[in-house]
Parts: sequence; C-alpha cells; structure tokens
Amino acid sequence: MAFESLSDKLQNIFSGLKKKGKLSEKDVKTALREVKLALLEADVNFKVVKTFIKNVQERATGHEVLESLTPGQQVIKIVNEELVKLMGDSNNELTYNKEGITVVMMVGLQGAGKTTTSAKISGLIKKKGKKPLLVACDIYRPAAIKQLQIVGEQIDVPVFTMGDNHKPVNIAKAGLEYATKNGNDVVIIDTAGRLHIDETMMDELVEIKDSLNPQETLLVVDAMTGQDAVTVAETFNNQIGVDGVILTKLDGDTRGGAAISVRFVTDKPIKFVGMGEKLTDLEPFHPDRMASRILG
Ligand code: GDP
Repeated sequence: MAFESLSDKLQNIFSGLKKKGKLSEKDVKTALREVKLALLEADVNFKVVKTFIKNVQERATGHEVLESLTPGQQVIKIVNEELVKLMGDSNNELTYNKEGITVVMMVGLQGAGKTTTSAKISGLIKKKGKKPLLVACDIYRPAAIKQLQIVGEQIDVPVFTMGDNHKPVNIAKAGLEYATKNGNDVVIIDTAGRLHIDETMMDELVEIKDSLNPQETLLVVDAMTGQDAVTVAETFNNQIGVDGVILTKLDGDTRGGAAISVRFVTDKPIKFVGMGEKLTDLEPFHPDRMASRILG
C-alpha cells in the first residue's frame, strides 16, 4: 500500500491528540514536532516540511482551536487542509488544442516509466473520444521502439515509428504529418531518456519542444526515488520547462516524499499518478484524495 509507513506514524500522533481532549499550545507544538520528524523520514523536502509545519502551527495554536470542543479534530483538519494546499489544486486536466492537433511530449529519465506511461495516457485520451497517435522517438534505448509498439497494440492505439536511424526531432515532425493525414487529433511523443541528466539529452528535448511546440510537456518521474525525483523535476523544469508531472510507481512508494514535495518545489502540478504496471493503472491526481490516503 502506498504511504503506509508515513500514514502509520501520523495516525499514531493524531490518535494521541484526540485522546487528550483538552489541548495546550505545548501539546500541539510537541505533536507537530513529531509530524515534522515523520515527514522528514518520509523523504519530504526539508523546505516543504518547514513551510508546512509553520503554516499548521500558526493556525493550530490559536484560541479558536485550543478552546474548541474538539481541539484534536481541529488540528487534524488543519493538517489535512495544509497538506492539500501543498499538493496543489485539483485542476489537473490536460489542455487540448481547440483547433488542429494537440501535441503531448513525454520526457523523463530512463526507467522512470515513460514508455509505459505514454501508452497509459494514450488510453485515457482515447477514452475521451479522441484519436491519439503514439510516436516513437526514443532511438537510443535498445528495444524502446518495439516496446512502444507492443503496448500501443495492447491498448489499441497506433504507433508511428521510423526505426532508430533518424534524428528524434525529424521523427517527431514526420509523426505529426502522419497524424494530419490519418485523422489523429492527439500526438503523444515518447522521447529518449538517459540514466542521468545530461546535456545532449536536454538539447535534444529542447530541439523537439521548440520545433513541435507541444500543448503539454509532461515529465515522468519515479515516486520511489523520493527526493531524487524532486531534483529531477526541478532540473527538467528549469532546462526545458514542463507543464505537469506524472508520478509513477506510487503503488510501491511507502514514504510519500515525492508526492508531497514536487508541487511546492517546482510549482508544477502533478497531473497523473501511476498505480501499477497494467496499462489501465494511471489515475488523475487529486490532492484531496491523496491527503486522505496519507492521513488515513
Ligand atoms: P522508460 O525507460 O522510462 O520508458 O520506462 P518503462 O516504461 O520501460 O518502465 C520501466 C519499468 O517500470 C517497467 O517495468 C514498467 O512496467 C514499470 N512501471 C512503469 N510505471 C509503473 C507504475 O506506475 N507502477 C509500477 N509498479 N511499475 C511501473
């Protein structure tokens, strides 16, 4: 289950607060110190933790809360609200071009789940009544093109390929032309990742982005890598500019650090979360549901 270790700790702290009945300012501060530790252990970015605890503390140590009939519940409610705020509002829909083809560019490091997620997202787009086309621009990773063809077939979305002998930007442009001719209205470009961020990769992505001017540049990051995922998101956003983040492998993430930190650190919304290996395991991200999942 996602976030179980963080959830367990927070539930313990909160049940202590609820049991106490009347709370003093000191009780709240002590509990928040424990919350702070739990968040840091969950690999939440320290700047995020600091801001979060400060905001909660300001709201939770006032008379209104402490002298209410259920101060413990009030504190938990404030924690919930501030957690939702950290993870952003719920308007995470994809933007589609009003006229002409919508281009969605998928970027990320190798192994993050980019190819799988490209197929998953094409499935969601298809469900909206659109006609997506997947374009295979990852010419470096052995078998990436074949992999995209396989998942495309599984989800019944066509895949445009030109082998691995052309420049990715040219494949992307040709894919767009193919879409125009074949009546596809959304083009999803699976770009190449590397094991680590490097300049050649970034230059190539910038070239594709400048040339195709996508409506959505979506960064795929692996939630299980915690703060590394957040650092990757910061770097991609600074160097090529992203419109949203997709957090994959949340099904295996017991800590939650990336999910809680990415929005605050990059100021870019998490649009979708990957919840498993199956091609239907992609969900829109809802900060309020995520907060409930974390707080139990
Ligand atoms: P790429 O190198 O970024 O294109 O990564 P792939 O799409 O090949 O994915 C790498 C591995 O992660 C594959 O084994 C996928 O099945 C797996 N994967 C991708 N997304 C998820 C997810 O949300 N949950 C889980 N459990 N596995 C995932």
